[in-house]
Amino acid sequence: MGVFEVLLLGCGAALPAFNRFPSAQILNINEELFLIDCGEGTQFQLSKFNVRRSRIHHVFISHLHGDHVFGLPGLITSYNLMDRKDPLHIYGPSGIDDLITHILSFSSSGLNFELIFHPISDYKGATVMENINVKVQSLPLDHKIPTSGYLFTEKVNRKKLNLKRIQELGIPKEYWKKIEDGEDILFKNAERISNEELTLDSNPHRTYAYCSDTRFNTELIPYLTNVDLLYHETTYLDALKLKASENGHSTALQAATIASRSKAKMLLTGHYSSRYEFLDAFENECKSVFENVVIGREGMSVKVG
Ligand SMILES: [Zn+2]
Ligand SMILES: [Zn+2]
Repeated sequence: MGVFEVLLLGCGAALPAFNRFPSAQILNINEELFLIDCGEGTQFQLSKFNVRRSRIHHVFISHLHGDHVFGLPGLITSYNLMDRKDPLHIYGPSGIDDLITHILSFSSSGLNFELIFHPISDYKGATVMENINVKVQSLPLDHKIPTSGYLFTEKVNRKKLNLKRIQELGIPKEYWKKIEDGEDILFKNAERISNEELTLDSNPHRTYAYCSDTRFNTELIPYLTNVDLLYHETTYLDALKLKASENGHSTALQAATIASRSKAKMLLTGHYSSRYEFLDAFENECKSVFENVVIGREGMSVKVG
């Protein structure tokens, strides 16, 4: 199986504290990179963690609060200085196009490359992007302004080799990639050997869900069923659940409840309020209802599936 992992660039909420950066992640699916949210300082984090900016062609913005989008004008400006030619696709709630083009209009006499905006208005599982590698769907988040989560589903679905049968037939290794790609084999001028005979049931599609920022929202659960890795914001501990609800955020306990009820395989946390320096209590609170939790921190890579 190819690589499918998320690199955390920012795990803090809106106010800077304790060296945490605002929201940003790099998702690598079979060596295609996706930037998810782009808070201030995202470019510095990309440099720090050795991510080549030029490899990013798709940016997914959850909502237009500054801690999720204020890094994007700077990144676009850098691309221009670096003489980027490839188009950049930007997905996000309606208004993302106005916001970015307005900011750039004051400083830029034009870009060397094209910005292609894909404003989202349907937050309930609409397909917002699809190619041969991945399908990305919107997720309904309940925040103070229109906000979309994203569900990434891997599409590359190599067949699993039936090694026992392949060895019985003596098929050399140079044919194996073709078999994984689903092709029949013509071997030693013999008859065509069908792909079905040489493969087992396919590997399951791996999935990653990004849910930030949101109140506790049970409407999400059907979209997250059996997700391999669920990133769900945990701005507060449950002692502040009223404040969380007022501010459009979730507590650690609520995130873990969503993970448990959607039968997620693993929960990844983040978007911690600046009032918390230490995160041990987030882990304990999550584990009281959902065991398989990773407390996200800047620089951490987490494998999906
Ligand atoms: Zn936020
Ligand atoms: Zn927000």
